[in-house]
Amino acid sequence: MKRIYMDNNATTAVRPEVLEAMLPFYREQFGNPSSVHWAGRAVGGAVEKAREQVAQLINCSPAEIVFTSCGSEGDNMALKGTVDALREKGNHIITTAVEHPAVLETCKALEKQGVKVTYLPVDHNGMLNLTDLEAAITDKTILISVMWANNETGNLYPIEEIGAIARKYKVRFHTDAVQAVGKIPVDVQKANVDLLVLSGHKLGAAKGVGATYIRRGTRLTPFIHGGHQERGRRAGTHNVAGIVGFGVACELAGAHLETEGVRIRALRDRLERGILEGIPDVKLNGHPDPNLRLPNTLNVSFAYIEGESLLLNFDMKGIAASSGSACTSGSLEPSHVMGAMCVDVILAHSSTRFSLGTDNTEADVDYVLEVLPPIVQRLREMSPLYNRDEPLSCMECQVIRKVL
Ligand code: PLP
Repeated sequence: MKRIYMDNNATTAVRPEVLEAMLPFYREQFGNPSSVHWAGRAVGGAVEKAREQVAQLINCSPAEIVFTSCGSEGDNMALKGTVDALREKGNHIITTAVEHPAVLETCKALEKQGVKVTYLPVDHNGMLNLTDLEAAITDKTILISVMWANNETGNLYPIEEIGAIARKYKVRFHTDAVQAVGKIPVDVQKANVDLLVLSGHKLGAAKGVGATYIRRGTRLTPFIHGGHQERGRRAGTHNVAGIVGFGVACELAGAHLETEGVRIRALRDRLERGILEGIPDVKLNGHPDPNLRLPNTLNVSFAYIEGESLLLNFDMKGIAASSGSACTSGSLEPSHVMGAMCVDVILAHSSTRFSLGTDNTEADVDYVLEVLPPIVQRLREMSPLYNRDEPLSCMECQVIRKVL
């Protein structure tokens, strides 16, 4: 059976060059980078090289990079560390209703400790109104946290403009750039961000490694206390092999950013056109202008169909896609992102995300476009909502909502 992976926003395959670079650190180069002897010294150099590679991809100094275990840790570190460090200044955070749970759940935990959080709404396309953002700033606001790119829709947020607003009001700015780094140019200087979070497994490195950019001079209480690794900013023995691979993945991403961006965008556009033009009753979720979304992401709802059945049928044809984010699929709750965009609850349940990556080809897209229409047609024919002569009654709507 063919195997086509279009779920790269959930995770990516480890690049062969990355794996090659990692292997020696599981074999002969096993030392602890904090050790002063020969075994540690060789390894310490490799961690510092990786730090330079990561820093180069986002245009910062290597000293501003702190290695972590993942994007979720980075977001927790940025939010909780800021609240603790700026306690005297205020207790108000501004974020958006469409952030990843790594930010939203952290905000909820902080609310329980008395922190005030404003969740900015989005419009039907999932976009923010920057006037709302500016209006929400008070003299107690210590942090603005807005993601660079949304994991479900691929929507890109105006980070440079938000950075300028944050600077104008002297408020710290954090961005969760887990989905953006490696797919589009990310430059922390242009964006005026103070804290930026990356995750290795979204760009061809292994799972279990991430990094947080902390602008020089930004006070942040450590999230993990312990040893003095990472200059006291994050305790814990380094995941050396993971970090080395992450460095190589960043270098590769930087070297191929432009060409891969153009190639993957063309594949995504082909898939998008094929689905929207070839299948009736399909709704695009996210900004209609594909240039305002990540080049690899397409999120569509197929009316009258339950998303999970679609995914199972895809799976039987070897196609891996996702409904909502990886963290929410597996639950029958519609995604909070679709909810914030006011996507009708029935359409929200059929939202399907295709996220393309380096290994995808035009033949993959054509295969999906070939197998998708008959699957959609078959599932629609089984749906009680499809081909009805009269509209659903209120009672029927309620029953369906309950079942979904
Ligand atoms: N932020 C965003 C936007 C994400 O998409 C993800 C993962 O899907 C995370 C944070 C969490 O990253 P990690 O899986 O490395 O913890």
